[in-house]
Amino acid sequence: MQKSKHHLYIEVLAKRILPDDMEASVIQQEFQRLEAGFAGENRLKQALSDYYFKTDHHIFYNFECMNDNGFSHQIDAILVTPLFIVIFEVKLLSGVLFYKPAQHEFYRIHNEKRENFRNPLDQVYRHQLFLEQCLRKWQITIPVYFAVVIANQHAILDESLEKFPIFHISGVPNFIENLYRNTANSNANMSLIVAKLNQLYQVLPPRRSISLNRVRKGALCRQCDYEIVMNYHYGTFTCKVCGAKSRNAIFETLYHYRVLMGDKISNRQFRDFFGIHSLQSASKILVRLGLKRHGTKKGTYYIIPEDISEWKRKRLR
Ligand SMILES: [Zn+2]
Repeated sequence: MQKSKHHLYIEVLAKRILPDDMEASVIQQEFQRLEAGFAGENRLKQALSDYYFKTDHHIFYNFECMNDNGFSHQIDAILVTPLFIVIFEVKLLSGVLFYKPAQHEFYRIHNEKRENFRNPLDQVYRHQLFLEQCLRKWQITIPVYFAVVIANQHAILDESLEKFPIFHISGVPNFIENLYRNTANSNANMSLIVAKLNQLYQVLPPRRSISLNRVRKGALCRQCDYEIVMNYHYGTFTCKVCGAKSRNAIFETLYHYRVLMGDKISNRQFRDFFGIHSLQSASKILVRLGLKRHGTKKGTYYIIPEDISEWKRKRLR
């Protein structure tokens, strides 16, 4: 399963944001939230992989797209069968969860503290309305259902939630069984729906950006929790605090640069980010790395490929 672009962005930012930055703790919290969400989605994936479907089926995880009004949809999972579609929203919440339906208020009590949440039922209802509208446009008739799935087995769902499609992840098989049992035997063209959804799918960009003077630059020491900038000397990065040496740190650092700033990097940007002063050694490194070069003279830049973090030092010989 793939993390969203936004998730990857916040992941890198959480490692690099300067500790005294105004938003440092907000970003760390958002990263924790995204990680929890991702863990929850993985649990749903496990539950669905273990289920014996009665028909063909196709599942989209982390489905992203834009609607005609210019707003985005991030849907945790869409299950497509010839009989019905289900939209899943996964929550990894702890504590006791409550709902006041007339007010559309969703809250939890955890450690004696009451906290309001964005209502997941409304969230997923919005996806349902959107998908139903798409299907009408595509002239496909098929019912669309939704469910909010709680991926934390220690969470307690209050009785106020009883009448709503919100339940623990262990309830997923039963929920799907009931749909198979109770949905009229229509026979929609499943492969057409999957093809249309694939057309609609779009990788959305990160929902924020940051200027480079708010982040730690350079190759950061993994062993020191990315808190220490490593020094470069003859092809090796060394941490002055723990003494760790790395010849591969350059690839992770280029990957971080790509996530934060995009895939183009000039010699000057490279020197600035890596803290290498000499133009010539920077050129030498860039050439040896084997990054694709574009433009001429002052307009020269290099392309950082998507799989850069999997590159190994042997590329440098
Ligand atoms: Zn270190």
